[in-house]
Amino acid sequence: MSSRCMSLCASAAALCMSLAVHGGPAVSTSAAAPDAVRAQAREIFAHIVGIESSIGKANVPLVAQYLAERFKAGGFPGADIHILPLGETASLVVRYRGNGKGGRPIAFMAHMDVVTAVRSDWKRDPYRLTEEDGFFFGRGTSDVKQEAALLTATFLRLKAEGFMPTRDLIIAFSGDEETAQATARDLVTTHRDLVDAEFALNGDGGGGVLSEGTAKPLIFYVQGAEKSSAQFLLTTRNPGGHSSQPRPDNAIYELADALKAVQRYQFPVKWNEWTLGDLKAASLVTKGPLGEAMARFAADPGNAAAAAEITKTPAFVGRPSTAGSFRAPAPRTCRRHCRSW
Ligand SMILES: [Zn+2]
Repeated sequence: MSSRCMSLCASAAALCMSLAVHGGPAVSTSAAAPDAVRAQAREIFAHIVGIESSIGKANVPLVAQYLAERFKAGGFPGADIHILPLGETASLVVRYRGNGKGGRPIAFMAHMDVVTAVRSDWKRDPYRLTEEDGFFFGRGTSDVKQEAALLTATFLRLKAEGFMPTRDLIIAFSGDEETAQATARDLVTTHRDLVDAEFALNGDGGGGVLSEGTAKPLIFYVQGAEKSSAQFLLTTRNPGGHSSQPRPDNAIYELADALKAVQRYQFPVKWNEWTLGDLKAASLVTKGPLGEAMARFAADPGNAAAAAEITKTPAFVGRPSTAGSFRAPAPRTCRRHCRSW
């Protein structure tokens, strides 16, 4: 979803359900993982962040191979570990076999690729895991190598502890989520037998919020669905002319008018039970005008002012409506080459 990393996943317009932790006793979380498990998760995280697995680098298979080796070393049989190449990229599928009493498998999804990062644009090396003041920096630290590392480390931990699931658990890591998403299609078509599951949990959706300072868990967003994206190529054509005899109109101005019209366009507000539950819960832990608007919208989704307030915040623009944005300069054509005189 939505930096294109940030922008891809953040602009993925996730439909999320929030589980707010409001008032009452502190959330009961399970005991922290043992130090060795945490260290292993950190090591895996750092290693895969260190692999530049953006499009064109053909490095996703390196991530897959590294993780596959970790699974193998952790006791998963080679026959249950599948690296599935597709063009320059690859998927990784790992099956944690259960005793079958619980029914059909559950799949756990993440992706191994990242959005391109230009080193000169970054304050820190994007391909080195850096921790500062309790935050991780590096391409993929939030989208979504942290999830791939956590799932891997969790599977390894469960295996090491002798855990026997009541149904098969399947890891399905795709390799081009940020671009063509062909590996996801490949998984559910060509390799359906490997990933077929009763349902899938996608680590690339939802997400939690901790309070600043105390790091108390405030809310956890559970993604119920994800809006897809549609991209349009705008082309304008105009007779043009010599630049010493400029016309009042030309292809560039017409394209600019079209772009401004897109900017002005407001998508209609839409909602369902999920949207209302999500915003109601989020309103309990969101301060200021945004939180107030969430509460008003949850109580009355016809409240246009509340919807407008919510959609002013990029992180929430996709909740009650569709988000439109320009991700790349739109190409244009001009019928004649023009020079200024
Ligand atoms: Zn993602």
